[in-house]
Amino acid sequence: MMVVRGLVAALLIGAAFVRPGQTAETLKIASFSTVLTEIARRVGANHVSVAGLVKPGQDPHEYQPTPADLEQAADARLILLSGKHLEHYLDKVQQATGAKAASLAVGDALPTLKMKADPDEPQADPTGMVDDPHWWNSVANVERATMIVRDELIKLDQADQADYEKNAKAYLAELEALDHWAKRKVAELPRDKRKLVTSHDAFQCLARDYGFKIYAIEGVSTETEPSDRHVAELIDEIKNQRVKAIFLENTLNPKVSTEITRETGAKIGGSLYADGLGNGDGSTYEGLVRHNISTIVDALK
Ligand SMILES: [Zn+2]
Repeated sequence: MMVVRGLVAALLIGAAFVRPGQTAETLKIASFSTVLTEIARRVGANHVSVAGLVKPGQDPHEYQPTPADLEQAADARLILLSGKHLEHYLDKVQQATGAKAASLAVGDALPTLKMKADPDEPQADPTGMVDDPHWWNSVANVERATMIVRDELIKLDQADQADYEKNAKAYLAELEALDHWAKRKVAELPRDKRKLVTSHDAFQCLARDYGFKIYAIEGVSTETEPSDRHVAELIDEIKNQRVKAIFLENTLNPKVSTEITRETGAKIGGSLYADGLGNGDGSTYEGLVRHNISTIVDALK
């Protein structure tokens, strides 16, 4: 009885402080994707508080939740997941949160590209293919993800529907403009020069959207080292195709890439943000796309 009375008192006190256009409490969100953290903050604005558990610059393939991360996830009403098998620690999150929070694997609702799996990949299908988890490297996918997050916020907090719609519209307009900019920038590069050699196979979506062919040094994840045979084949390919530049990634060791440049004469075209937001230019999604597209186009021109 005491507990109930205390709760009622708390609700009344809470209500007393609510002004028009303001909600009593922000919606707590825990996000396991740096891109989804940005989307949730932009769309949710003052109605949400978002704990970004995977930090900018952190490798999401190797990330493991800390006990403090799991506590924050357990405290949230909405868990945002990248999906497409990226969160291999999902059982830990589910154990920590139980059935309490709504959990939304945004990537699972987006179109799927298949890619060749690493030899030890548990999610591979019988033909050795796996879903490509790197959906955020397509601006069109990030637009879709924004609409998915918007709809989920409205479901959980109908009172603020108008704000979520307005914020999403503004953010979507920015993404649309960004996609147009990227298309114009890529148009500077003739089709036969659109060859992308990167550390791991993270840019399939970008390649599809903007007409590049991919040559990856590692596989789908960053956890496996490439075999000597694979590196030798790639070196031949780079020489045959006369690829001018290859690219490093912000979260990876550049050792193998450096070896390839030595063998082929291709230069290092710069470093790309492959696995979500980082530090510096790539600390926002727009900055990430502008950095990646400019770096690629300017180096291959
Ligand atoms: Zn990756």
